[in-house]
Amino acid sequence: ATLSVESEAEKKQVFDGEKAYLLVRELRKNFDTGKTKSYEWRISQLEAIVKMLEEKEKEIIDALHTDLSKPRLEAYITEIVQAKSSCDEALQELKHWMKPEKVSTSITAFPSSAEIVSEPLGVVLIISTWNFPMLLSLDPVIGAISAGNAVVLKPSEVSPATSSLLANLLESYLDNSAVRVVEGAVPETTALLDQKWDKILYTGSARVGRIVMAAAAKHLTPVILELGGKCPAVVDSNVNLQFTARRIIAGKWACNSGQTCISVDYIITTKDFAPTLVDALKEELEQFFGKDLIESKDMSRIVSPTQYARLVKLLDEDKVSDKIVLGGQRDEKKLKIAPTILLDVPQEAMVMQEEIFGPILPIITVDSIEDSFSIIQSRPKPLAAYLFTNNEQLKKDYVDKISSGGMLINDAVIHVATRGLPFGGVGESGMGCYHGKFSFDSFSHKKSVLYKTFDSDPSIRYPPYTPEKENI
Ligand code: NAD
Repeated sequence: ATLSVESEAEKKQVFDGEKAYLLVRELRKNFDTGKTKSYEWRISQLEAIVKMLEEKEKEIIDALHTDLSKPRLEAYITEIVQAKSSCDEALQELKHWMKPEKVSTSITAFPSSAEIVSEPLGVVLIISTWNFPMLLSLDPVIGAISAGNAVVLKPSEVSPATSSLLANLLESYLDNSAVRVVEGAVPETTALLDQKWDKILYTGSARVGRIVMAAAAKHLTPVILELGGKCPAVVDSNVNLQFTARRIIAGKWACNSGQTCISVDYIITTKDFAPTLVDALKEELEQFFGKDLIESKDMSRIVSPTQYARLVKLLDEDKVSDKIVLGGQRDEKKLKIAPTILLDVPQEAMVMQEEIFGPILPIITVDSIEDSFSIIQSRPKPLAAYLFTNNEQLKKDYVDKISSGGMLINDAVIHVATRGLPFGGVGESGMGCYHGKFSFDSFSHKKSVLYKTFDSDPSIRYPPYTPEKENI
């Protein structure tokens, strides 16, 4: 599925505007034959992805380990199992999703019938990111194929082992006349973005999201932007302490070392309860990762020296370094930073201004738990918002008053893998959504079709508008 080239030498040639143009033209021609529209084609491609995930499990886990030192079980569960589950759902439901939806018609159209037909959009572009480089590439591809589109995937250059594996695997397993991978960084992505697509799904930072949207606007191409932000977790004092601590740890450090778009970015809790929560987090962290946290093999490393330097800078800021209550150790050679908890960081510190996307967890304290609302509301809308409480009124108020892409009460992160729920941001955390049926819908056009007969044709519809007609 890489760009069709004759030799290795040619493969290394720059992917420029002309190549991008030729690629899209070729895929559009193939799409126009109608082959990707058939149920059978879609199923064959989805089955091929399942086969690929089963046969190449080891290679995939190895690549994720090379790129991120991702623990093998974590890689298997969060990337392979999730991608397979998306395929399984699409394989089970596709017939049902593709079926035109009948709707009743109004008297003004009588006699008639109507339906909503889901048709593929055409040739779509998926630009992916490095933190879950397999899942976040395959999941949108699964959606695009389910909806009957031709698709180009541009994986992230920051996870090169997975990017190259994806290019090779999709080339061998999928129909190259309609599914391609283009590897590369900014120049290649820019060349792709200059083309006319029928939809673009971009996963990554808001900064690049703006570039993608501006490029898409030139062609009136709709976009889905899967961005990030600072996801808060509000922790009330009446919780099951052990469950809460474990779930926060699982949603922060045991999830790619915090390099996850919906990982807990910061905690808000009450002044009185904060020390109890910190103690519980320390205890459970030690249970999970051992006494020497930075040495644990059960935690991914930081993806690159650039990201490592960014995180170290957040920690070394004057007003932050003396707020460390756990961790702070780092190992530049191994690109590792220990799980680090900061207590009572000033809101204007960088670590509270930008998305952390790493193993640092600031805790903000308030007098009353309800004070957390205004802190969250004063910031851009997050991709996920978490609340840990047994207070039913607080749950109700949180759902009611806090706007976020998704929300999870009494746990973290797992809503992303819950069948039936859409995944996407709001405001600065993104636009549009996908997963399951929502992917199918996002990559389809909902075409309204009205069927009339020749049974009757009331004259009131047509001029001349005589007084008799006006009096009816
Ligand atoms: P990034 O925006 O730097 O890179 C993502 C993609 O954009 C890559 O494929 C890259 O090649 C491309 N790109 C980078 N610069 C570009 C440019 N100037 N022009 C065109 N393309 C360019 O993002 P990142 O650092 O890889 O990811 C981190 C961000 O992604 C975080 O904010 C995180 O929250 C977010 N994220 C969101 C989700 C989600 O599903 N909502 C998932 C993972 C990550």
